[in-house]
Amino acid sequence: MSAVRYRITPSHPEAHLFEVEIDIAHPAPDGQRLSLPAWIPGSYMIREFARHIVRIEARDGIRAVPLTKIDKHTWQAAPCEGVLRVRYDVYAWDLSVRAAHLDTTHGFFNGASVFLMVHGAEQQPCEVDIRPPAGRTYKEWRVATTLPEAGGRAGARRHGFGLYRAASYDELIDHPVEMGSFALHTFKACGVPHEVAITGHHDIDAARLCEDLRRICEWQIRLFGEPAPFERYVFLVMAVGDGYGGLEHRSSTALLCSRNDLPAPGASAMSDAYRGFLGLCSHEYFHSWNIKRIKPAAFEPYDLSRENYTRLLWAFEGFTSYYDDLALVRSGVITQDDYFKLLAKTVTQVMRGGGRLKQSLSDSSFDAWVKYYRQDENAPNAIVSYYTKGALVALALDLTLRSKTRGAASLDDVMRRLWLEHGQTGIGVPEDGVRRAAEAVSGLKLKKFFAEATEGTEDLPLDDLLRAVGIELAFEAAGTAPVLGVKTANEGDTVKLTQVLDHGAAQRAGLSAGDVLVALDNLRITAGSLDNLLKRRQPGDEVKINAFRRDELMKFRVRLDAAPADQAKIAIAPRVSAPARALLKQWLGRG
Ligand code: ZN
Repeated sequence: MSAVRYRITPSHPEAHLFEVEIDIAHPAPDGQRLSLPAWIPGSYMIREFARHIVRIEARDGIRAVPLTKIDKHTWQAAPCEGVLRVRYDVYAWDLSVRAAHLDTTHGFFNGASVFLMVHGAEQQPCEVDIRPPAGRTYKEWRVATTLPEAGGRAGARRHGFGLYRAASYDELIDHPVEMGSFALHTFKACGVPHEVAITGHHDIDAARLCEDLRRICEWQIRLFGEPAPFERYVFLVMAVGDGYGGLEHRSSTALLCSRNDLPAPGASAMSDAYRGFLGLCSHEYFHSWNIKRIKPAAFEPYDLSRENYTRLLWAFEGFTSYYDDLALVRSGVITQDDYFKLLAKTVTQVMRGGGRLKQSLSDSSFDAWVKYYRQDENAPNAIVSYYTKGALVALALDLTLRSKTRGAASLDDVMRRLWLEHGQTGIGVPEDGVRRAAEAVSGLKLKKFFAEATEGTEDLPLDDLLRAVGIELAFEAAGTAPVLGVKTANEGDTVKLTQVLDHGAAQRAGLSAGDVLVALDNLRITAGSLDNLLKRRQPGDEVKINAFRRDELMKFRVRLDAAPADQAKIAIAPRVSAPARALLKQWLGRG
């Protein structure tokens, strides 16, 4: 038996409570300390999971052991004799991929939100007994996780309740667990068993989903080189009416999607929703290498009690965002034209944010904890996404390497080098490690490239880089109607400003996020009428807008702008030279 043994029971599904017990065979003589992580790796925000612990007590045998809370995440037990048993309830009602969720239909948890860390025993192996809820109602429930089953009589069988094990606390919390009566589909990629466990009402063409995922997974495994870094892999999918999210783990991923994202039986066309879902699966799968094993030095090891700062999230999230869609086209799951549309969408997203001219990717990574993850109404004016702009840096670097080395080196070589030097060795990537890897595989000097792309705020020279592979990038306006320079949300029939873009017509006139629009030139603004009212005006026209700020009616004179040419279009150029054609084929061709 392990020195630390956890037991988790969905004790009150109707009240969303998991009961957790921890038996600590050798508690620290001067009093055992226990704490819950403040954040979960992969999601860079302080979440303070300990706030969901609703009751906690400790005993040694029959004697109660006093527990003292010493900070918001940490408890200190009084010195005691023999085995220390800590028992607590965790309220689990967070329908996201980052915490825990339990009701009478299913249970899901990330270890980081339910398992207290036993200080001093972080590196020791531990066991976890995953118990079913009591009652016949739950007799169909089973378990999906990549936690290894423990051997012996009490051990769990695949998909069964029972005893699982982990080599350390870090491993324990990196295998999320789903329990319920999920649908289970399987396939093999490069010989490795893969499972897709889908919770929630759905009706899908599972064979199509498995075949598309197999192609994507095999392409990624071969990119880094066989064998895959895991013995099996599980996609844990929660299908709901409207949802989106994913979190990567070392041999599984937790995904939240809309059930309409999944492929319908009998449909063969590639819908935008299904393509998006495959992109999400591809993204989290790529993280199995890029962030779960190739890690920033700042994450070796994680300090789960506080923010861990790195300036490299553009390489881990951005490069992963570049490869998620690239894997779809290179594995043949989507067409080249579809890929150009996805790429154009990313370019458009970046170009629409004025914050890209103020914040560098390096700063965006560093401040992820308080900016990217805590966006407010000013976010588009103030910050740049290390996902989308990071993906464009990956594109720019890939094309730079390909054209400057005449196809001899590419970003694929950089990823393979990072895998060999860092992923396989467990040595963290230093803050200049990505540049060094790119220089090593290409023989190029790339200091200027990286300084401009990751520390600067100027737009990347994508049009020149794309032209070198025979592709044209153009920008056009989204329409001919004039614009206010705002983002809006409809609340019932009223229109509320959610964001007011820098230097736009609304901002110049004094309108603010939160204002509720009432009338334009004395005609009522409703959810359905605003676009039509604007279509009947010209850029440069001055209009009168009435709006409520809090409960005060205000009047604004707004000079309307022309829609900006910020919508990217990407297509093969009319004339492509032979060298450009060869580079394009090498970049996007199957294989
Ligand atoms: Zn990611």
